[in-house]
Amino acid sequence: MQGWSITSEGDSDQGRILRRVLFAIVAGGMAHTLVCWIAAQLDFFRGGGNAFAQLFTLIWSGHLLLIVITLLGFNRLFRDPSMTLPILWWSTLVLLVSAWYVDEVRLCVMLLFFAILQMGVFRCRTRELVLLAVVCVSAYLGILLALNHWYPEALDMTAELIQWATFVLMTLAVIILADEISAIRLKLSERNRQLGDIVDRIQNLAVRDELTGLYNRRYAMERLGKIREMADRGAFGVVAAYADLDHFKQINDQHGHALGDQVLRDFARLTGNLLSGRDFCARYGGEEFLLVLVKSDQAQAEALLDELRDNLAQAHFPQAPALRVTVSIGLAAYRPGEALDAWLGRADEALYQAKGMGRNRVITAEG
Ligand code: GH3
Ligand code: MG
Ligand code: MG
Repeated sequence: MQGWSITSEGDSDQGRILRRVLFAIVAGGMAHTLVCWIAAQLDFFRGGGNAFAQLFTLIWSGHLLLIVITLLGFNRLFRDPSMTLPILWWSTLVLLVSAWYVDEVRLCVMLLFFAILQMGVFRCRTRELVLLAVVCVSAYLGILLALNHWYPEALDMTAELIQWATFVLMTLAVIILADEISAIRLKLSERNRQLGDIVDRIQNLAVRDELTGLYNRRYAMERLGKIREMADRGAFGVVAAYADLDHFKQINDQHGHALGDQVLRDFARLTGNLLSGRDFCARYGGEEFLLVLVKSDQAQAEALLDELRDNLAQAHFPQAPALRVTVSIGLAAYRPGEALDAWLGRADEALYQAKGMGRNRVITAEG
């Protein structure tokens, strides 16, 4: 399971990761250092103050290295930029090394392992935590056996083994909890994905025409209103065009409604092939479409729409090889400050002229 995410908001993510790493290392490192320092003050640290100073200089060098890696952004090279797993392993190693030195308070030091584990509960896979826990409890046992061998007088092995067994049981309990949390996270992320799909579908249904996949009229008008506002600020020119398939009723009558539907879909596909950028085509009504060409001057728009007209006239329909479909188009370039109705009215008027002049043509409204 992925507990992390790499988003495009790299910088804010990096800031969050830096705070997390700083907190884990500074707070965790200081808690650990404090426990060991108290042990050293109480003479429980084998080797005394000198050994403590040397060991913790080394440990804090490692801590600082992790902080510097994050500050310089090298953490981004890791699959998980929050470096949770490397930090867990480093912290566990540090804990185990210090456990070698603190005889009477060894369990107190080792209890910090649960703070380390909880850091990974929400971010690591269960098997990664299990491996860490197995290595930790085994190394803890290894340390006890080695100490018993080298410094038998320094520890009460029976008590140490009882403490170790308790530690193992508690680790097991934490791992079981981590596994349950993992399962919940897995379910939640699956639900989130499903919800995301549903939201996408609902959004699509709200703005798209089901048959052609083009925008529906309501959404087209909303979008056109925004484009018009931008055009009013002088940002670009924009052309609106109505396209109405010619004698479509006959096509339905002669070839059936299903083929009519196919023609509508094919026309939508042809417009998709030609439009680019912020241009769009919407299904305005039955066999009537609204095309909006942004940043386009009138001559460019006329050429593009004529190409669309021509492409449709050339199109072949395998279900009706003899069928030829044409379209009439009326276009109007936006006059800054013009009301939406007036603008579209001019395009409609041009379409009406195209029909009147014999169809299969593109007519431009007077500017
Ligand atoms: P003109 O050249 O003057 O535009 O003639 P026309 O036959 O295209 O225009 P008219 O408005 O008389 O007919 C439009 C037809 O479009 C009538 C209607 O049945 C058909 N139509 C509307 N929506 C759909 C649809 O979703 N699928 C199909 N197959 N036909 C549709
Ligand atoms: Mg028609
Ligand atoms: Mg019509």
